[in-house]
Amino acid sequence: MTLKTRNAIVTGSTSGIGLAIAHALAKEGANIVINGMGDTAVIEAERASIEKEFGVKAVYSGADMTKPDEIHAMVKEAETNLGSVDILVNNAGVQHVAPIEEFPRENWDMIIAINLCAAFHAMAAAIPGMKARKWGRILSTASAHSLVASPFKSAYVTAKHGLAGLTKTAALELATFGVTVNCVSPGYVWTPLVEKQIPDTMAARHLTREQVIHDVILLAQPTKQFVTADQVAALFVFLCSDAAAQITGSNYSIDGGWTAE
Ligand code: NAD
Repeated sequence: MTLKTRNAIVTGSTSGIGLAIAHALAKEGANIVINGMGDTAVIEAERASIEKEFGVKAVYSGADMTKPDEIHAMVKEAETNLGSVDILVNNAGVQHVAPIEEFPRENWDMIIAINLCAAFHAMAAAIPGMKARKWGRILSTASAHSLVASPFKSAYVTAKHGLAGLTKTAALELATFGVTVNCVSPGYVWTPLVEKQIPDTMAARHLTREQVIHDVILLAQPTKQFVTADQVAALFVFLCSDAAAQITGSNYSIDGGWTAE
C-alpha cells in the first residue's frame, strides 16, 4: 500500500486505460476521483465497487474535459472533499480518423480540447496545492503518437506531441517543488477507443476489419501483441512511487517496440 494517504484524480476513468489506472492506484491505497462519460448507474456501481474492493474513498466527477471551468471545479471539489490532490492523471482522450482535407472541424477542436488543453487546465488547477505541500505526481497518458505519426490522425498526433511538450515544460517549472511530471506512451491497447476507430480506418484505407487489426494496428508493434491496460496502469503506479522521485520530464514508451523501429 505505497500510496496510502494520497488522493488522486484520474480523468477519463470510466473506461479502458483510465479505469485500470484508477483500480491500480486504489489497490495501493490512494483515494480516487473517477471521471468520464457513461451510464450513471454503471459509473455509480464502479465507484462503489472501488470503495468496497480496495477500502479507499472513491468519488465521481462528471466534469467535461472540453470545459475549463468544469475542470477547475473538479480539482477544487477534490481538494474540499478529500483534502488534497496529490496525484493528477490526465488520461481522458478521444480519437477520429480521417484525411486532413476531410477532417471535421468540430472533431479537430474536440480532440485538441480533450487530449491536450484539458491537461493544461487540470495542471493549472492542481499545481498550487502540490507546490504548497511539496509533493505531487502529474502523469499523462500520451501515446506512441506523441513520438511518431500515422496518416489520418492529424488532431490526435498533434495533441499527443503537445502533451509530451507540456510534460517537459511542467517538469522544469516544478523540479524544485517535489512534484514530478511525466507521460506514458502506450502503443495499441485493446479498449473502446481502438474498437471505435476500426470502421473509420476500414473506410480511410479501404480494408476489412481483420486487415485493419493485423495489417495496420498490430503491424505497428513488433511484438504483434496488444499492450494491456493493466500493464500501462502498473507503470503509472511505479511513477507515483518514491522510487521514481528523480524521474521527471520523461516520456515512457510501453508499445511492444513500435517506436524503436
Ligand atoms: P476509452 O474510450 O476506453 O476511454 C476514454 C475515457 O475518456 C472514457 O472514460 C471517456 O468517458 C473519457 N472521456 C471522453 N470524452 C470526455 C470528456 N469530454 N470529458 C471527460 N471524459 C471524457 O479509451 P482508452 O483507450 O482507455 O484511452 C484512454 C487514454 O489512453 C486516451 O488519452 C488515449 O488517447 C490514450 N491511449 C490509448 C491507446 C489505445 O490503444 N487504447 C494507446 C495510446 C494512448
